Amino acid sequence: MRSPVHLKLDLAVYGVRLGEELAKERIFSAPASARDFASRDVELILPEDIVARCPVGTRSASKSPYLLRNVDDQFVIEDDSGERTPVGVVPPPRFYNEATTAGTPMWQVGTVHAGYLSIDPATTCGFAAKGAACQFCTMQNDTSATGAAPRTVEEVLEVVRAAFDEGAAEFVYFNTGYFDSDDGGFAFLQPYVEAIKKHFDTLVALQIHPPKDNQWIDRTYAAGVDALSYAIEIHDPVALAKFCRGRSEFIGRQRYYDALEHAATIFPSGTVWSDLIVGLESLESTKEGISALTDMGVLPILSLFRPLDETELREHAPPAPESVAPVYAHLYQAVRDARINVQFMRDLGYAITPIEARFFAGEDAKLDVAVSSFYRSKIGSRAVRGLSKLRRRLRVKTVSDSFDSSRL
Ligand code: SF4
Repeated sequence: MRSPVHLKLDLAVYGVRLGEELAKERIFSAPASARDFASRDVELILPEDIVARCPVGTRSASKSPYLLRNVDDQFVIEDDSGERTPVGVVPPPRFYNEATTAGTPMWQVGTVHAGYLSIDPATTCGFAAKGAACQFCTMQNDTSATGAAPRTVEEVLEVVRAAFDEGAAEFVYFNTGYFDSDDGGFAFLQPYVEAIKKHFDTLVALQIHPPKDNQWIDRTYAAGVDALSYAIEIHDPVALAKFCRGRSEFIGRQRYYDALEHAATIFPSGTVWSDLIVGLESLESTKEGISALTDMGVLPILSLFRPLDETELREHAPPAPESVAPVYAHLYQAVRDARINVQFMRDLGYAITPIEARFFAGEDAKLDVAVSSFYRSKIGSRAVRGLSKLRRRLRVKTVSDSFDSSRL
């Protein structure tokens, strides 16, 4: 039997088809959409509480060897040999059906992934305005968002409160695009961070582009940000210039590494990370990128390239799962050798975290983690194991929503 992380890798690359009994279910046919590419996925809990996000309903997912079915009222993933793995399905949170006081649907302000609430208060990316959006990003065609008004602090607080009250998220993650300013966008985000720190006892993570001056990184830490990412995405400079022209031309590759190196000297171990996409450069180059990051105490997070229908790279083949396994083994070893704390980044549906990469690094590595003190998240408890329970959960929401809207 495949390990749950090998299955997670396969599901990230191939996506999942839906059994007939599931195809008409609302949660699978109309997932919340936002610019975050993960929002069109279904979130599954695999054995050993591994969180996996799987594309569903995309062109490539319609050819997936994996089928999500409801068998004897138990969700299973069935592969083409007929082998079944029991899974849980995480239903969309209730607050997706609500609107802020200003009338904005809450799912447009924040979306939940693997227990964190992802928010982009800017709603746009400066690279798109310059015609230099990353080729794998849906932002390249999203002209509607360009120039849109940012979310207000009040709206963001309302959505955080709704997500926390429901127990749908445990911490907040700001993920913004490019700002044409020396601070990399932190000055824009600072009021949101400070408001959340004032009103909630929670962790705040930030993914932004690096500032021109490292003093902004000191200010980011001083403002109470708990974890920080400057995502380089691609280590090879030629591939970076090709796929991420904005990063290469308007910021420059070296700025990412310089900023990450500085941040790792200020923030606690394991709370500075950078994403690398597997499948847009040679695997050797990705390995070099991993080593470059771990050498400076930065945690690499590896997501897998996958072709989205509405991007320039829709025909670009995703990597074969078996070919990328050595990269994940290298990730585990590099992080372990550098003694970087892996507890903060333990569950990310869209990427295999270093702690999950142990499954690619042999039996000894699995034992390593089994005896460590890492704690489980609460995400598993939100998963539903069968269709009748899922329908009941959604029906309860629907009844409750109509009751709310009737204002009785
Ligand atoms: S930086 Fe690239 S990936 Fe991020 S929002 Fe802008 S275009 Fe998309």
